[in-house]
Order: sequence, then structure tokens, then C-alpha cells
Amino acid sequence: MENCTEYFNVADIFGENVFNDSVMQERLPKKVYQKLKQTIRDGKELDLATADVIAHEMKEWAIEKGATHYTHWFQPLTGVTAEKHDSFITAPMENGKVLMSFSGKELIKGEPDASSFPSGGLRATFEARGYTAWDCTSPAFVRQDAAGATLCIPTAFCSYTGEALDQKTPLLRSMEAVNDQALRLIRLFGNTTSRRVTASVGPEQEYFIVDRDKYLKRKDLIFTGRTLFGAMPPKGQEMDDHYFGTIRERIAAYMKAVNKELWKLGVSAKTQHNEVAPAQHELAPIYASANVAVDHNQLIMETLKKVAGRHGLQCLLHEKPFAGVNGSGKHNNWSITTDDGINLLDPGVTPHENVQFLLVLTCILKAVDIHADLLRESAADVGNDHRLGANEAPPAIISVFLGEQLEDVLTQLISTGEATHSIKGSMLETGVKTLPDFMKDATDRNRTSPFAFTGNKFEFRMVGSQDSIAQPNVVLNTIVAEAFSEACDILEKADDFDLAVHDLIKKYATEHQRIVFNGNGYSDAWVEEAGRRGLPNIRSMVDAIPALNTEKAVKLFEKFGVFTKAELDSRVEIEYETYAKEINIEAKTMIDIAGKQIIPAIIKYTTTLATSISAVKAACDADVSVQTELLTEVSDLLSETKVALSKLEEVTEKGAAMEEGRDQAAFYRDEVMTAMSALRAPVDKLEMIVDKDVWPMPSYGDLLFEV
Ligand code: ADP
Ligand code: MG
Repeated sequence: MENCTEYFNVADIFGENVFNDSVMQERLPKKVYQKLKQTIRDGKELDLATADVIAHEMKEWAIEKGATHYTHWFQPLTGVTAEKHDSFITAPMENGKVLMSFSGKELIKGEPDASSFPSGGLRATFEARGYTAWDCTSPAFVRQDAAGATLCIPTAFCSYTGEALDQKTPLLRSMEAVNDQALRLIRLFGNTTSRRVTASVGPEQEYFIVDRDKYLKRKDLIFTGRTLFGAMPPKGQEMDDHYFGTIRERIAAYMKAVNKELWKLGVSAKTQHNEVAPAQHELAPIYASANVAVDHNQLIMETLKKVAGRHGLQCLLHEKPFAGVNGSGKHNNWSITTDDGINLLDPGVTPHENVQFLLVLTCILKAVDIHADLLRESAADVGNDHRLGANEAPPAIISVFLGEQLEDVLTQLISTGEATHSIKGSMLETGVKTLPDFMKDATDRNRTSPFAFTGNKFEFRMVGSQDSIAQPNVVLNTIVAEAFSEACDILEKADDFDLAVHDLIKKYATEHQRIVFNGNGYSDAWVEEAGRRGLPNIRSMVDAIPALNTEKAVKLFEKFGVFTKAELDSRVEIEYETYAKEINIEAKTMIDIAGKQIIPAIIKYTTTLATSISAVKAACDADVSVQTELLTEVSDLLSETKVALSKLEEVTEKGAAMEEGRDQAAFYRDEVMTAMSALRAPVDKLEMIVDKDVWPMPSYGDLLFEV
């Protein structure tokens, strides 16, 4: 346990382990600094001589922080980050000493071999070259922990032939696309001064915390990140007493340590609170440019896990660690802002007069409507299937919440061709003399919408808690770039710009009105209504994957150079494989637990019961009907368990023998998952009736309420 009574000044430690702008300004020769800034700003190529100077200074700085190694830190298609460490030492000199060196070449490019990462056929192992390339738009940092200190250089990861093997490359490409098209759009409105438009992202991260000793007694948590068995405790989340509740000291101490680590790494951890489910919490940083936000979200997940271990805790990032209580997601807040601070999603006080905003807004509606399938796919991961489309937030149907004020503006536009007024916020009267009355927002919140406008940003709420946020932002950036580009194609040719833009806004609002929904997204009525509107309801990851390489998707991504068809095809393959593999691990874990822990425990229990029945009978011939009934019930459930176990073994073996691809993934979803539920049912019933001392692992109650 770390020292809990250590206090510090955040401003002193913030960013102390980051090679950030102020460090560069201080340490790099002026010319070198300017060249690097130019590269960052305008995407200019960096010459080797400049890179050498930067690398040298970076190394000196890192060594002062205790770094012995450097690593190209990258994000392969496994959802987590990867790194291979090299120390700074050079070959020993004649006097037996070594020098510490780091060249520009080593900074800019790495070749980590790394041929075992998923590539979906883009690389055969015989042509295994994979390169990492420095992403100088995300700052390098030194990570210090018990394993030592390492200089981490954020990089993109590509194949020998330049295909993206990671999350970052397409993200950077999509940021370029939205920058190019947004600049075109604002130029049409007379903006000649802004030089860049950046997608900004603020992801809210949900997670569970459990006691590590208890965690270590659950093989399902260890191998799969979620519980595969477990009866509901007498209390769940129905009292809503955990949500925003006082944070217990043990958890608060943990959060404090997490924040400290993150602040040192320049991650602006801002908000923390208890979430809806017991043992569930949330952490949100202040938003940053999309690629930095993606990197920082990886650092947040890594730090949450690492620091938990030091506090005797375990952080569960899985989307659904426990059945019966809420799962975890990630709200991806997204907006687009110019380098001189203009947020294109800011409606201003009178949105009906803000023509540029209305065009941006209706372009986004169009993009989301046309590419709802892609957005849905971008949030698909194996764990998220337990949330999206299951009985939990948010629904699998993509719709957009605009709020009263904007919906009213759109309705005016559609019905009369003109929007003449905006609903204003009114005074909120508290009814208490000592409390001030204040202006309330023109629009209330909606917590059930998967894609909600929240004042000056959109909040995409479907993303899974353990997933990278890269793909959702790649999709958002690219589909919005496409809508902007199509609008600009029309408007740049228009004779009368004002008339043309007015017509276009009305056209988009009318044609894509069906995607707007302000009601309760959790209700059955909405599922029916969405069906009538023709909105897709894609219930599982296996059904979502094909959206990635439809003709429509290939055309979109190729047009903006974000993905080639080969890259999309490879990702489709990887996702099917990942799905089958993860469910296979879950099934095998269940088989292991049922066969080696649960059945033996129940047999022991029935034997004790039977012995006690005979003993009681022999002693006094008393009524043993209660014991007998219990023994019968347990024995029946035991044989049900055994039958279900055999069935699961059979289908898992069959699934594993299938050829990789869509059919195999569908088999795991339809046959293996069904067999898993059939095994879980009798086991959970058994847990409710047998003696707690007999049960081979901590219960839901132990895990959720005894942290
Ligand atoms: P909520 O009420 O939904 O929790 P917050 O204002 O706390 O909303 O913001 C949640 C996240 O959204 C934070 O990470 C915040 O930095 C981010 N955010 C705020 N404004 C923007 C913006 N313009 N663009 C992107 N993200 C933003
Ligand atoms: Mg939010």
C-alpha cells in the first residue's frame, strides 16, 4: 500500500515525465525546435540531422528521469498496447565502459519484428517486416515503476508494404481527412485565418474494482476478465445508493494514486465518481486531440490496472464482469475545433441564425444516418455484446439525440423552409430563498441515446470499456469528412451561396430526419419505431463485422485514404478470429471450473449430506425429509450440470476444429454461447442452496460489496 497521507501540488508534478512542448523549448536548439513544431503542425517531414538532435536531447532528459531503456510504444490490433524495450547502451569500449546513445534513426523508425500480432493476412510470417514510426504529434514520456524507467515513444505500426497494422495509422489518416474537408467548409463561410481543424475527444472510462485476493480465487476473472458463474446477491444496484455515493477510503486512496501517476504522464485526469453498479467507478480526463486522447486512454487503462495491484485491488475493465448489474462503457465525447479555438459544434445562443453550425449539424446527421452500421461496428467487441442489444444501455440501434432546442430548429426548417427562432433556457426556480435562481440550459439531458448532442459536442455512448477508442473516432472523423466534402462539392459551385446553403441544410434535415430520436432509447416501443423508420438494429458483433468492408465502406475509406480494401478485409478477418478465440477461452474456462472445482465440491457436499442423513436416522430415527429433499434437489442439479458440461465440451471442440472466419464466429455465438448459458443455469442455482463454506470461489456478494 502506498503512503496515503502524502500530499502534493498537482501543478508541480503535472507532465513531469513528458517530453512536452516546454521541455522541448527549453532543451532543443531554437532551429531544431522550430523544425519539429513545423512537422507537428503542418505534417512536414523531419530530416535525419534534426531527428538526431531531438533523439539526443530526449535521451539525456530520459536518463535524468532514470530511464535505462526506450521503446516504440504502439497499438496493434489486439486492443492493447505493445512495446519492445531496447537499452540505451552501446557496445563496450576498450576500457570496458559503455556509452548511452539514441540516434534520430532509432527515434523515427523501429523494426520490432512483431510478426505474431494479428494482421488478417496482410503479412505472412515469411514477410514479417513490420515497422513502427514515430508519431510526433503525441509526446514521448517516461514511464517509471517497479520494473524501472523507460522512455516510451508513441508510434504507428505498418507492414513492409505500408499497410496499417495498428489503430493509430488510420486514426491519423482520418484526422487529416476531417481537417482537409472542414477547412474547405469554413473557407466557404469566409474563414481565411484558421489553419487546422482538429477532432477533439474526451473519453469517460468506467471500471470495476474488486479485492485482489478474492479475484485470484476466480479463474473466470483471471482468464476472461468476467465472471462466468455467479448467483445474484440479495442486494444489487436497485437502491441506487452507490451512484455518486461517498467514495470509500480504500478506493479514494487508490484513485489518488492513479491520478498522481496520470498527472505525471501529462494525462489530465479530471473527474472521478462512483458509478451505478456496486464496485463500479468512472474516470474522465479533460478532452484532447483525438490521437493524444487515444494514447491517453490506453495509459489510463494501463494505470488503473497497475496501481490497483499495488493497493491489493484488481481493476476489471471488461464490459460485463457481472451478470445482473450494469456493465461498463466508455462515453466518447467528440467535437471539431480550429487551431484558433472555434468549435464547429458550438451552436451559439441563437442556433437558428448560425448557418455554418446548421450545415455542420445536418452534415453530421447525414453521416450518422448513412453510416450507422459502421458506427455500430466501431463499438463492437466481444464483451460489448453483453451490453449493446442485450437488456442494457445503450441500445444497439444508432439514433441521434438533439434536444428540444435543436429539434425545434430542425422542425421549423423542414416544415417552413426557414428557422426563425430558438427556444431559450428559462429561469430555474429553486423555491428556496437562500438559493439563487439560475438560468437553466435550453435542453435537458438524455441518458439513453447512443449518440447525443451535449451542448457543443457529440457523445457517442456505445463504446466498450476495454476497447480502444481509436476505431470509433476513425469512423466519426471519416464519415463526417465525407459529408463535409459532398456539401462543399455542391456549395463551391453554387452561384448564390446563401440560397444554396439554405436549400442544402433543409434537404439534409429532411432526408435524414429519421435518425433523430429524443425519446427513451431503452423502451421496446423505440425498437418497433426504429424498425418502421428502417434503422438497422444490429444485435451482435458477428452481425456488425460485415459493415467494415461493404462496397459503401470501401468507397468511403478509400476516398479519404483512411483504409485500403485490403486493410478492411484484413480487419474483418481479425475480428471474426478474435470473436471465436475469446469465446473459446471462455468456454474452456467454464469447462475447467465446472469439472475441476464445482462438480467435485458438490459431490463432496452430497456425500456429507448423505452421511448425515444415515447418521441421524441411525441415531434416533428422526424425520430427515428436509435433508433428503435437499439431497435430491442438489443431486438433480448436479446431473443437469454434468449433462450441460458434456454438451459444452462437445460444441467447443467442434467450434475449435472449424475453419476461421464468419461461420466459425457464428457457431461460437449460436452454439457455444448457448451451451455456456445452459451450464451456468444449474450451477448458479446450486450456489444458492449449498453451504457457503463448500462453494469453491468467492460469491458476487463477496466481490461486489467487500472491497
Ligand atoms: P458529462 O456531464 O457528460 O460527464 P463533462 O462536461 O463532464 O460531461 O465532459 C465529459 C467529457 O467530455 C470530458 O472528458 C470532457 O473533457 C469532454 N468534453 C468537454 N467538452 C468537449 C468538447 N468540446 N469536445 C470533446 N470533448 C469534450
Ligand atoms: Mg457524459
